[in-house]
Amino acid sequence: PILRRSIQPTPPVPPHDDEVWARPTDPDDSTESAPDAGEIMLYYQPQVEIATGEVVGVEALLRWRHPRRGMVDPEELIRVAEQSAVMRLLTRRVVDDVVEQLAKWSAAGVSLRAALNVSVRDLHTGEIAEQIADRLTRYGVAPERLQLEITEGALMADPRRVLATITQLHRIGVGIALDDFGTGYSSLQHLRRLPLSEVKVDRSFVLGMVDDSDDAAIVRSTIELAKALGLRVVAEGVEDERTWRMLHAAGCDAAQGWFYARPMPAEELVAWLARYRPVRPLATSDEAELP
Ligand code: C2E
Ligand code: MG
Ligand code: MG
Ligand code: MG
Repeated sequence: PILRRSIQPTPPVPPHDDEVWARPTDPDDSTESAPDAGEIMLYYQPQVEIATGEVVGVEALLRWRHPRRGMVDPEELIRVAEQSAVMRLLTRRVVDDVVEQLAKWSAAGVSLRAALNVSVRDLHTGEIAEQIADRLTRYGVAPERLQLEITEGALMADPRRVLATITQLHRIGVGIALDDFGTGYSSLQHLRRLPLSEVKVDRSFVLGMVDDSDDAAIVRSTIELAKALGLRVVAEGVEDERTWRMLHAAGCDAAQGWFYARPMPAEELVAWLARYRPVRPLATSDEAELP
């Protein structure tokens, strides 16, 4: 079992008080300003091994609880943050929180890996690699527990420096996943050049694969390609049983999506894990019904 039944949910991670976010005065209170540290939190979404139904990891996803607008889409937050120095602070905060959370789960008997997303600029200096190495040591978390999800867009900007940072992280044992695979420009180049451990099939293809044979073909080819290169392959955006069964039939290693669980706060995840019963594919061959 992933979890000892007796553990108590961990309290929410309090905002780090050493971080003061730049917040320009904004009379109309639009979101085109940076959030306060206390408005930022991470949600975690389970990643499930398709063949066994076992929860093997989580992806950390940023959430901005805006005082008036409620939850703001992370893509909007990232877009705003990237226009200023806030992105750097945001990423530092994500790294800190995720590593600390891994240590807390570990102490509570929850054995999980956690993936975090990084942004274009984060990889342009070695700072993030140093921070990660430092936090892993400080919290006594094994590097293998951590994975970085990078998007192809992030790689385009300055491939050489990005490669240097990724290589540094790979050397210390942190996993590297190529996120949103298939949506960037030179996906195949990246597969060849980067020290990757995992490929994530973009959710746009996964969402469409039941109804659209082109999407299904793209997903299957991606899985095949990843396997041929010795990479683990994870599908995101798995919303229903048919998609999940098709992915199993196609040999996909792991899946993430509403079919299993939506992203949720860390303390809810503990309760969710305690309730979770592995979803396993049937031994029958009803997977044959593919478009
Ligand atoms: P992503 O890394 O590709 O994350 C997967 C997105 O798919 C998440 O959207 C997740 O909530 C969503 N998703 C998961 N399962 C399903 C499903 O079954 N159906 C559908 N329709 N969607 C599903 P989210 O949380 O809105 O995040 C959007 C993007 O924002 C992420 O895409 C990532 O690129 C970025 N992002 C999120 N957190 C961070 C962060 O801490 N740092 C950076 N740099 N980017 C982040
Ligand atoms: Mg991601
Ligand atoms: Mg993705
Ligand atoms: Mg994305």
